Amino acid sequence: MANTKVFSAHKVYTMNPSRPEVSHVAVREGKILGAGSLDELSGWGEFDLDNRFKNKIIMPGFVEGHAHAMEGTLWRNVYVGWFDRMDPNGRLWPGAKSLDNVLQRLSEANVQLSDETKPLSGWSLDPIYLGNKRVTRQDLDKVSASRPIGILHASGHILNVNSKGLELAGLLKPGINHPGIPLGPDGLPTGELYGPDAMTPVGVHVGFDRSMTDCDEQGLRDYAKLCVSSGVTTSTDLAARLTDASVDMMLRVTGEPEFPACIVPLRIFFGMSPKELIDYVIQLKSMSTDRLSLGRVKAVLDGSIQGFSARLNWPGYYNGSPNGLWYTSPEQLSELYLLALKNGVQVHTHTNGDQAIQLSIETLEAALRQAPSFDHRFTLQHCQLASAAQFRKMSKLGMCVNLFANHHYYWGDEHYSRTVGPEKAERMNACKTAVDSKVNMAIHSDAPVTPLAPLFTAWCAVNRLTASGRVQGSHECISVSDALYAITLGAAYTLHMDHEIGSIEVGKRADFAILEADPYENDPETLRDITVWGTVQSGRVFEAIKS
Ligand SMILES: [Zn+2]
Repeated sequence: MANTKVFSAHKVYTMNPSRPEVSHVAVREGKILGAGSLDELSGWGEFDLDNRFKNKIIMPGFVEGHAHAMEGTLWRNVYVGWFDRMDPNGRLWPGAKSLDNVLQRLSEANVQLSDETKPLSGWSLDPIYLGNKRVTRQDLDKVSASRPIGILHASGHILNVNSKGLELAGLLKPGINHPGIPLGPDGLPTGELYGPDAMTPVGVHVGFDRSMTDCDEQGLRDYAKLCVSSGVTTSTDLAARLTDASVDMMLRVTGEPEFPACIVPLRIFFGMSPKELIDYVIQLKSMSTDRLSLGRVKAVLDGSIQGFSARLNWPGYYNGSPNGLWYTSPEQLSELYLLALKNGVQVHTHTNGDQAIQLSIETLEAALRQAPSFDHRFTLQHCQLASAAQFRKMSKLGMCVNLFANHHYYWGDEHYSRTVGPEKAERMNACKTAVDSKVNMAIHSDAPVTPLAPLFTAWCAVNRLTASGRVQGSHECISVSDALYAITLGAAYTLHMDHEIGSIEVGKRADFAILEADPYENDPETLRDITVWGTVQSGRVFEAIKS
């Protein structure tokens, strides 16, 4: 057997402008030896020709610049979201379209659990789609009054529990006075819990423990299956604690011969001073492998728009809700940015509201004056409400954005009518403005908040349709080729990995997404319907699991 393999395809889209479209790609030692015609590639010597993709499209492997590997772990719980969703084993779970549906699905799972003390956990509840009806502990008691039950909301910021869950946490009593624990007419908690303060002590009794944002071993393997079925060959894990034990686990699991993706975990800025954090990630960076890339930081500045915890500039929320919360103080952020720049460590910052975006921009500008840095690529994650002026400023400062294009589809109608109002809703996730301002842009799913599926995310950025079918902000629609750039090279650039991945060109890692249809030759409205056959990662072929 030759040590070179040549894949033929219906078409290979390279994202390399000097030869954008070819028929064959040659792979040696996990890297791309060349992209071109069979005749050109034969010049490299003996090869094995692999024709299994001859009727398919080969693209650079997709890069998910903002997701959480905990999605793999969550699938061991009951899915109760409103939208249809595919699990790691290729099974499509239909959306639960009413509270009765949600309770029925939990009841079915309840009878399957033999051990009466084992908690029953569900995830991805979204009351917006249940007519904004709040779920109560009494609702969940109908499923079981004796077993602790908890359901995590799609946003990840709210937890619903039954009476048993509250009882085990010592909270089923009158006289509780906590902003995150609303009380019912009987003076007892309703079972709805807001924010980590209220959620954590109860979460441990209903199957959601403190380290929920860290995936476990099986969760990481399951997450990688989702990567294969969505064409992703490199994915971030954007808010990991990266304890010694979890780093050991991730090194071991990603090092397994059949592990199909490169994972890029970012250490969250939490529980350490800026100095400790920077020292810690510098040490982590030296442990990086080809399939686990370490050494970056994630900071979280504000909350979510649909949860009214994002920080908005004047005039604030459309429905009059009070302004959101700072999750990191301006002083801490400034210390972090300065130390990071001085040490060449990259920081990605979660900002949703335009006030949070402004703070990040101004803090970085001040830090850059003290520690000039020419290629820092500090990235604003979500960055949903940035104005045109903020994009112009980000461009000057060399910042990148990773916009949450999926939001229009999932919550766009809500943003228009309730959260930020029509004008800001139409400019949200301003992909076209980012492209025009020459701000390097990625787009993302934030899985598990929305499903990992870069072609769906690209569809959202191209069409900007809401769940009710309205185009929201047609001025910000981008072309298919800009959207495909964002899910490949654009995302790779935000991770300082564009020299290794993101396009099909000689010397780069042999990472491909294998598609059943041509994203350029079909109607842009059908982009999300393209079936992903699977991936090639470092030259290894992985077929998506079909149930
Ligand atoms: Zn996230």
